[in-house]
Amino acid sequence: MLIVMRNDATDQQIDLVMAKIKNKGFTPLPLPGTQRTAIGVVGNESRIDSSEFEILEGIKEIIHVSKPYKLAGREFFRNDTIINVEGVSIGGRNFTVIAGPCSVESREQIIKTAELVKISGAGLLRGGAFKPRTGPYSFQGLGKKGLEYLKEAKKISGMPIVTELMHLKYLDLVMEYADVIQIGARNMQNYDLLQELGAIKKPVLLKRGMAATMEEFLLAAEYILNGGNKNVILCERGIRTFERSTRNTLDLSIVSLIRELSHLPVIVDPSHGTGRRSLVAPMSFASMACGASGLMLEVHPDPKNAVSDAAQSITPEEFAEIMSKLKSMAMIFDKICP
Ligand code: PEP
Ligand code: MN
Repeated sequence: MLIVMRNDATDQQIDLVMAKIKNKGFTPLPLPGTQRTAIGVVGNESRIDSSEFEILEGIKEIIHVSKPYKLAGREFFRNDTIINVEGVSIGGRNFTVIAGPCSVESREQIIKTAELVKISGAGLLRGGAFKPRTGPYSFQGLGKKGLEYLKEAKKISGMPIVTELMHLKYLDLVMEYADVIQIGARNMQNYDLLQELGAIKKPVLLKRGMAATMEEFLLAAEYILNGGNKNVILCERGIRTFERSTRNTLDLSIVSLIRELSHLPVIVDPSHGTGRRSLVAPMSFASMACGASGLMLEVHPDPKNAVSDAAQSITPEEFAEIMSKLKSMAMIFDKICP
């Protein structure tokens, strides 16, 4: 429920509304705006009987909020959330590109990639140090060493770091190195993890679970927001369907729908979304066209020899070409693409 106060409502009237909400066992969320002062009601599972509020003074209107994701939805927060990561903006009209290898493999590999993607216009550097692999015999990531290489690559390139956190036991370690904490598809519904991330301020890149509906995706974001961390970036990375020709089915229609229903930035990962190098460019262009706030692309200096996700990794040259085309598209789609 959203209680919109009249323009001439007194502080006392607002306080009374807040007290009533608390009294009913819910949490009041003051939403001061330039055109209206409203109070959101959070914490209810079902529709609230508004009759007890209607008798209070200073209220202009009471709006029943239909979506269960109150903090992630646009009903309370109409304006796009723009997240600042060390001077790089994500959200709104900004089209921000995160690029780098699937896994950090060596010092040379990550530094070389960072330097090359930076020149083409990448805003942030990605690289997994802790890797969620399907089988236990596959390369699991360099762990702390990988984080140290990322730190060096950041120092040289100036790009903030995005890297995955798989388990709470590594939270402090990953917090020390990451500028954005990535939560992978496999952990989208790890609610203990999400709750802990709500207690920090560092931006979180939340990837859609491979079998998650849009509502489950937004409710996962809601866990982080509800804990007090407002810096959530959503990432569409494809879902599992009956189609086996591509690694996943990249659900671009959901990106446009999330833009309508949520104020959070949503970026697209066409690398995991397709699993095919040749499809990364066309899906990147389609992502800008469908309203995404950016991309996350796997780029490797020698894709054929990448230790993970070789088939979907593009070369720095291919990356440069994609970036140059995105820059020409930006004006048509009203985006800012550096
Ligand atoms: C990744 O980005 O490297 C990754 C493992 O992605 P996902 O969690 O989407 O599979
Ligand atoms: Mn990968």
